[in-house]
Amino acid sequence: MTGSKLGGDVLAMEGNHSHHAISFDKNKGCYVSRGVAVLLGIIFVSGLVVTGLLVYYYAPQVRETQQQAVLVPQNPSSVRKPLLTRRRTTTTRRRPSTVRSTITTAKVSTTPIATTKEESPKGNIDVRLPRALKPLHYLVKLQPFINGNFSIIGYVEVEMEALEPTSNITLHMADIITRNETITLVPLGDLDGPGLRIKKHEYDNERQFYVAHLEQELQPGHKYLLSMEFLGYLNDQLHGFYRSSYRDTDGTDKMLAVTQFQATDARRAFPCFDEPGLKATFEVYLARTTNMSSISNMPISETIPMEGEEDWVWDHYDASVPMSTYLVAFVVSDFAYLSATANNHTLFRVWARESAIEQAEFSRQVGPIILTHFEDYFNQSYPLPKQDMVAIPDFSAGAMENWGLITYRETAMLFDPAVSAASNKQYVVAVVAHELAHQWFGNIVTPRWWTDLWLNEGFASYVEYFGINYVEPSWQVMEQFVLNEVQIVFGLDSLESSHPISIPVGHPDEISQIFDRISYAKGASIIRMMNHFLTEATFRKGLSNYLDAFKYDNAEQDDLWRHLTEAAHEDGTLPDDLTVKIIMDTWTLQMGYPVIKVVRSPDGTSATVSQERFLLVKEENSDDTHEYRWWVPLTYTTEDDPNFNNTQAQVWMKDSEAQLTIPSLPSKEQWVIFNLQETGYYRVNYDDHNWELLIHQLFTNHRVISTINRAQIIDDAMNLAKAGQLMYDTALGVYNYLVEETEYVPWAAAINNLSYLKGMFARSGGYGALKNYLLDILVPLYDSVGFEDSVSDPLLDQYKRQKALSWACELDHPDCLYKAASFYNHWMSNPDNSSIISPNLKSTVYCHAIAVGGEREWNFAWGQYLKSNVAAEKNRLLSAMGCTKHIWILSRYLEMAFTPSSGIRKQDAFRVFGAVARNEVGRSLAWTYLQDQWDNIFEFYGKAKSRVIKSAINNFNTVQQLKELRLFRREHLEDLGSATRAVQQAIESTKINIAWMNANYDVIVDWLDMNGYSTKLNNA
Ligand SMILES: [Zn+2]
Repeated sequence: MTGSKLGGDVLAMEGNHSHHAISFDKNKGCYVSRGVAVLLGIIFVSGLVVTGLLVYYYAPQVRETQQQAVLVPQNPSSVRKPLLTRRRTTTTRRRPSTVRSTITTAKVSTTPIATTKEESPKGNIDVRLPRALKPLHYLVKLQPFINGNFSIIGYVEVEMEALEPTSNITLHMADIITRNETITLVPLGDLDGPGLRIKKHEYDNERQFYVAHLEQELQPGHKYLLSMEFLGYLNDQLHGFYRSSYRDTDGTDKMLAVTQFQATDARRAFPCFDEPGLKATFEVYLARTTNMSSISNMPISETIPMEGEEDWVWDHYDASVPMSTYLVAFVVSDFAYLSATANNHTLFRVWARESAIEQAEFSRQVGPIILTHFEDYFNQSYPLPKQDMVAIPDFSAGAMENWGLITYRETAMLFDPAVSAASNKQYVVAVVAHELAHQWFGNIVTPRWWTDLWLNEGFASYVEYFGINYVEPSWQVMEQFVLNEVQIVFGLDSLESSHPISIPVGHPDEISQIFDRISYAKGASIIRMMNHFLTEATFRKGLSNYLDAFKYDNAEQDDLWRHLTEAAHEDGTLPDDLTVKIIMDTWTLQMGYPVIKVVRSPDGTSATVSQERFLLVKEENSDDTHEYRWWVPLTYTTEDDPNFNNTQAQVWMKDSEAQLTIPSLPSKEQWVIFNLQETGYYRVNYDDHNWELLIHQLFTNHRVISTINRAQIIDDAMNLAKAGQLMYDTALGVYNYLVEETEYVPWAAAINNLSYLKGMFARSGGYGALKNYLLDILVPLYDSVGFEDSVSDPLLDQYKRQKALSWACELDHPDCLYKAASFYNHWMSNPDNSSIISPNLKSTVYCHAIAVGGEREWNFAWGQYLKSNVAAEKNRLLSAMGCTKHIWILSRYLEMAFTPSSGIRKQDAFRVFGAVARNEVGRSLAWTYLQDQWDNIFEFYGKAKSRVIKSAINNFNTVQQLKELRLFRREHLEDLGSATRAVQQAIESTKINIAWMNANYDVIVDWLDMNGYSTKLNNA
């Protein structure tokens, strides 16, 4: 999965799965969610049913037991005969040739379907399925009433093998009503026999288990077929099988049905063994009306008219390869598509609503190129005959890698060259590459359990850069990696409330919490580090062997480490007594990362190197007694022979070593630099003298130091200063050279770090002086890039301009504000001319024109938002409307964000909230709103949304704010769910900010004073 994007940042994935929406209300003893309750209300109260047959077909009543409730039909005799005929000829079922070979593999690995290892800490409930049964094949038939009451008539058959004797069948199910009298169990060898009697149906709502209790035991080695009919619901919570809508060009509202199953929501579409380690083949039937089309993971094998329903047909799909439930996907829509062919054997189609289909052209072009590139990179053919990619109007994450049917947010797949910015284009390629990388890493070989999610996401997040680089080498994305991934995640990972990337999880809330920046960006960063210390050739060899060995199977991180070690020993890139596991366990099983302190001898010719966990603030009374040490690949270069290209470890620092000595360095007048190209996941600090040498080198000729290492020196220096490990004098001394800097990556690192100072000072008396200092740094850059944008400039130059302009306006630079307002006014007089403002500059122009403007400017933006057909443009306008300084408009805007049918989609509410919270005028409004409207916002999402909470409390730095935050956590402890860690991190960040203000505010004010940026007004 890919997270969605906010502003210039690719935000970490967060829990997109609304587990609270299950809301099993124990008091009422009913297990359906509000959504299903509404459906039932429709069916039973108003009788507003499209097909009519539903009314008597499903008339459930609730039968309660103490812990479970199972719905049974009230009047089984009136039930129409099953609409689907059970397939009895399972032996004749057509299977792709790939399946046969994998069944052998599967047999070897059937035993370790672990349930004991990862227990949920949450109340110690083990939410894992019993391991007595292994699913082999599913037949799923679903008839979604998209243009009706949103019910789904479903039927499922599961073929399974008993691995242990068992007298119950337990599988996952949520928001589904079973028709208990249709549930049958027969031995596979005796399909027409009487079957096995089920003596009791049970529903365990805590675990989301359906349990069939049997009269007799199932025998190990025997196979059985369980089948049942059920009723489901197309919810509006963006998970499971859900509904989405859009307004067509003629003004009519159109509906579609789409799925999002990762991590634990396949169970909302049909009862299944919903764990990634329980792979099976899937044979899907989707019913649709003839004016729509359907898509699933595999190609359609036949379309069959539906008996007795004139406008309905069944699309019957080829059986899939063995796969995990979370990768199954369905889309039923009236979308249009464009097609292409990748490498002569894969049909490639891109889908979107018809009025946006031309915006899919860019994805149609790059998708097949990247798919082909990855076949080569992973040394393995793409196994399916087709790949569909669909842009969905309502989508919770950024995109989802469903096998053969990738779903996207519109902004992640659609690109309009006339309207979308260069960063939108890179984002589209990045997300397409990310999801295509998953087709191998994740889909062919899948983590056995969510603990290894980081491996999936870290790999896709790393390899996506190879995909982008292949399509557009001029974009220099390998340089951007340091900026977008390493330096960003360093921030989060320097908190005590960080977490190891490999983490035991059980409960769905815990699973969705780990779809965060640590899993994605840290995962990608340490895989990059590994790639560099192993070398590219060894890395790819080990990777390809691993993918081959576990094809259609599941694996754990140790399996990958084993294959990489073998390759490394063969190639001699690791010493024989060192394994990848020894090294990588220190990076995956412990949280955080080290700062390497380099202290040179008095004559400079040797250095003592030590490692220590880097924390922004060391808690005095921390109960964490773990001794943090890593296996650190040390790389370095020196002034007498600068070479930044050798990124293999020159020296390994062991996790048993607190320090070591590096000999043969140049004399003390020449600098050393450690961590070449910032490929190591660590920061570097030096003695004062070496810092002086570096500052001097940057000032005299910065090009001697590689671009990435210039960005590294800036980022390390500023963060060491933030943590009190380096004087701000020294850190800001690094900035002196920037007048000569022309490259984007060091500039962006510099600006990103200044934004922390700006955020801390924003509400203090010293802000004016700081602003003048920041302007002095930025204005030369602003003047050099100019307000005239050109899409023919190199991409990083376009980014540099975008960054400089946005900062200059942010710092109230008069020329910037004037130009922003003029461009916007010009546009207001010519509202249909979308080319007045360059796409790259639109965000800045919109935001600052609205900030200096009034109601008229805001209303114009709202009108354009409604009118626009391009999702990226809509996003920009949504963010910009949060820039107004009029508090009543902001207040109205917040209300609109959480009001269905206000014109703002549910998926975009966080964007509106975040924009208001980032605005200095809106910040306290947003925080108050969150506290006052907690229940409504919770209900709106069906859960606590960590992204909304995080943006509300960004830059908190007072004791009073900390108090409010703690009170907030106390009051909502029960509700926080998958946002729990985010709130913990926010509390820690606030404490860090308070400590930072105490330690540094006066120091920086003095420094500003001394450097001619007085904070005091003349009173004479
Ligand atoms: Zn992903």
